[in-house]
Amino acid sequence: MPLDRSITVRAPAKVNLQLTVGGRRSDGYHELASVFLAVSLFDRVTVTPAEQLGVTLSGPTSGGVPADASNLAAQAVELLAEVSGAEPAVHVHIDKHIPVQGGMAGGSADAAGALVACNTLWNLGMSRHDLASLAAELGSDVPFGVLGGAAFGSGRGERLTPLTVGTTHHWVFATAAFGMSTPEVFAATESGRRNAGLPWAADAVPSPRMSRRLVDALAGDDSHALAETLVNDLEPVVTRLRPELAATLATGRGAGALAGIVCGSGATVGFLAPDRHRAQAVAEALRASGTCAAARIAHGPVQGPEPEETDTTGETP
Ligand code: ATP
Repeated sequence: MPLDRSITVRAPAKVNLQLTVGGRRSDGYHELASVFLAVSLFDRVTVTPAEQLGVTLSGPTSGGVPADASNLAAQAVELLAEVSGAEPAVHVHIDKHIPVQGGMAGGSADAAGALVACNTLWNLGMSRHDLASLAAELGSDVPFGVLGGAAFGSGRGERLTPLTVGTTHHWVFATAAFGMSTPEVFAATESGRRNAGLPWAADAVPSPRMSRRLVDALAGDDSHALAETLVNDLEPVVTRLRPELAATLATGRGAGALAGIVCGSGATVGFLAPDRHRAQAVAEALRASGTCAAARIAHGPVQGPEPEETDTTGETP
């Protein structure tokens, strides 16, 4: 293996088409029923052999992301090195475009990208399935980051079943000037249930189930039908914590989106559009409204991270 080669992957963000939250388990995680769709907002993750593990960042959303061993991509390198017997001697560079604390699993995408890139760099020959199993140790959303496409996730979202998608769907993502902490949003969801006298523990709440309507609509070719099925149990909590997101939702819906939904635990808001042309109009209306920091167009599904090999001059062979 030439030591001067680098491996770069494009790691996609996800949007939850369904996010149904069950009770809290004794390990602290909530039971989830989640339908993930990988969309064309990408971070680029490059791994290069180096004397020791290091992380650097660039890109419009890199501010505040840790460039040390706590970065999820660095943790992924350490884990893969540990299980494979390789030395974690790589430099990881992340060119960040996915919103941070945006509910689009950007950190998980980077971890998944680092797993796929190091699997190639170190010639490990691990299958996607094996990498996805390992990924669950890094976080609930990392296995889906490895697979891409669309999938149903149960457990804490890490047990995946790939789903069929009948057509490409067009999206607008309105990013916020602030982030939302996933643990805080789940904690607020639980305290809301407790305060209302509702059951909150996993053994008292029925297990959340996959939405058959949604999965059938996803397998079809009609974005209108899919729009009617989108559901995120965290949305009322997120908009209570950040009431300004209600204006973002109203703006996108009013501009012709088929549906608007908070992405995961926020703070990004996603809008499903009937086509690319209408997505552009929705994005322009959102930008003009001042109800978001930026509005970006994307489509999905897209595949998970795939290696593109470069030499040290940065040229693709
Ligand atoms: P999710 O949807 O999975 O709950 P999120 O999209 O809301 O996650 P992320 O952007 O993935 O949130 O990251 C949350 C926190 O993780 C950040 O505040 C940051 O401190 C930390 N972090 C660690 N590594 C990364 C990374 N590579 N990219 C972004 N954040 C990272």
